[in-house]
Amino acid sequence: MNSDEPLMEDPRPDSLSTTESLVVLHTGGGKGKTTAALGTAMRAAGHGWNVAFLQFMKSADWLTGEAKSCRDLGIYFECLGDGFTWDSADIDADIARSKDAWSKARSLISSGNHQLVVLDELTYLCSWGWIDVEDVVTVISNRPRHVSVVITGRDALPQLISLADTASNSMSLHHAYDRGVAALKGIDF
Ligand code: ATP
Ligand code: MG
Repeated sequence: MNSDEPLMEDPRPDSLSTTESLVVLHTGGGKGKTTAALGTAMRAAGHGWNVAFLQFMKSADWLTGEAKSCRDLGIYFECLGDGFTWDSADIDADIARSKDAWSKARSLISSGNHQLVVLDELTYLCSWGWIDVEDVVTVISNRPRHVSVVITGRDALPQLISLADTASNSMSLHHAYDRGVAALKGIDF
């Protein structure tokens, strides 16, 4: 779509089909993937949906704004990760933890208790081979029809891109971090 000039004709096709649920992927190197997922979670909660927001990398020890705000909105929020991999003392333990985390997510998706399940930073577990991407594709493809899923994380594998109904790739133009500025509470976490 070109935004140089205002559209003078309705660009939408004559008939659009409807769907009960969607799979949305936010990948790429630009900032905004997790915040996009949080925006969708907030929107869904506003319609009274049951929402689950699972973070696969962030540690439960981190007091993030998103954890507090989600809980205040009645969103089920859980950090299943253990923080940065470079801080890890035991990668094997991290791999075992990631398998447990995915198993939890799998049960939650299949139970159909939530109309929206966010899998924040799930892409890494697939890219690193810590969990089987084919299992992820199978579980999400066979989910109850009313369950929408949002996945985030850099470098999504082609299987996840194909699975998604809507896939966005964000590109960093520049980031404050490039100029040596640390993450800012309220903007970055
Ligand atoms: P956000 O959580 O702000 O939406 P994100 O989910 O798109 O960011 P991640 O790759 O998950 O990005 O990064 C997590 C943290 O790294 C955030 O604090 C974010 O601000 C920061 N970050 C995002 N993009 C970049 C970048 N291009 N360079 C450095 N840091 C980044
Ligand atoms: Mg993120």
